[in-house]
Amino acid sequence: MISTAEPALSVRPQPQARDGFDASPLVVFYETTQACDLVCAHCRACAQPKRNPDELTPAGARALLDELCGFPEPPLVVLTGGDPMKRPDIHEIVSHGVSRGLSMAMTPSATKLVTRDALMTLADAGLSRLAVSIDGANAASHDTLRGVPGSFQRSLEILADARACGLPLQVNTTVHRGNVDELPALADLLDGYGIVLWSVFFLVPVGRALADRRIEPDRYEEVFALLAREARRRSYVVKTTEAPHYRRFVMQQRKRARRRGEAAAAHGQTSVMPVGMMGTNDGKGVLFVGHTGLIQPSGFLPLPCGRFPRDSIVDVYQNHALFRSLRDSDGFSGKCGACEFRSICGGSRARAFALTGDALGSDPDCAYQPPAWLRAGLHVAEGAGD
Ligand code: SF4
Repeated sequence: MISTAEPALSVRPQPQARDGFDASPLVVFYETTQACDLVCAHCRACAQPKRNPDELTPAGARALLDELCGFPEPPLVVLTGGDPMKRPDIHEIVSHGVSRGLSMAMTPSATKLVTRDALMTLADAGLSRLAVSIDGANAASHDTLRGVPGSFQRSLEILADARACGLPLQVNTTVHRGNVDELPALADLLDGYGIVLWSVFFLVPVGRALADRRIEPDRYEEVFALLAREARRRSYVVKTTEAPHYRRFVMQQRKRARRRGEAAAAHGQTSVMPVGMMGTNDGKGVLFVGHTGLIQPSGFLPLPCGRFPRDSIVDVYQNHALFRSLRDSDGFSGKCGACEFRSICGGSRARAFALTGDALGSDPDCAYQPPAWLRAGLHVAEGAGD
């Protein structure tokens, strides 16, 4: 099945790709709450058991969705957290978004709150996709990361219940040093659950996620090769998050196959990355609104650029200096700025910021050495010399 890079798809990719996502994001992540009953080791939100009294009210959440309808192209909305199920009004949020013509997806935490009845109510409200996190191929691996025994089994039960309710399913997996060897077994496991998308996240050290849990840059290339292989033989789509260099990898594979005259292989590579899905990144096709209304380029790039409802989300996305610079790969510095793949990749802006403090600098987790960067001797200046 086809493979992409970056957010959940099936929403009008072509016009967005043409304008570089300057006018509208493809996907908006709305952090409905930071409350959650799990204590995941890599939680971006540093979730906590109780809801923050300052989170957007039910009326505020509905107003946020109304505001998103002001984009020229209405985005896909992903309700995230914490755990969105900790909000008693979550079904109304879904139905309000649907009534405004928005595609609404959701990423609940795998707890007892996700009952079959709750899933049926969400399906009736018009939810277009449910995403469940599975971070290991077995309970020992997954539950250790999630901090709650039984979480793995609960995730599988939710997948089965949601499928029975007719909800399209996505599985999110965060790759780290402790689970990278389990990815083939996990790909096998997921084949039995009727999912439409496997979204593979690559660790960005924000929130509770630790930098030393990242895999090595060379290991990314091995994982990319695995994902490209899996994408061709599975019933579900495979995509990456915070690994835009997967697009570079796929393009290189395609080019090598063409050089070897392997027409069939080249065709196969084309099929794993539709052109329309190329080029999203933090702040470029992606927007994040936090539980109290803070507007950021993504959940993994915690640089506030405004606050809803004081500031217009549409205006911040289209005109804020940081958002504009994140969409201008010619303005990037270091290796990514010199790279010939910068417009379709650009590196994870979130990881660049988390590890270097410069959101426009190089993504330290890319193994590729651009010829222009080597020719200019910049690799020596940046301390990556021979
Ligand atoms: S150097 Fe930067 S832009 Fe080039 S492939 Fe690597 S991450 Fe992408």
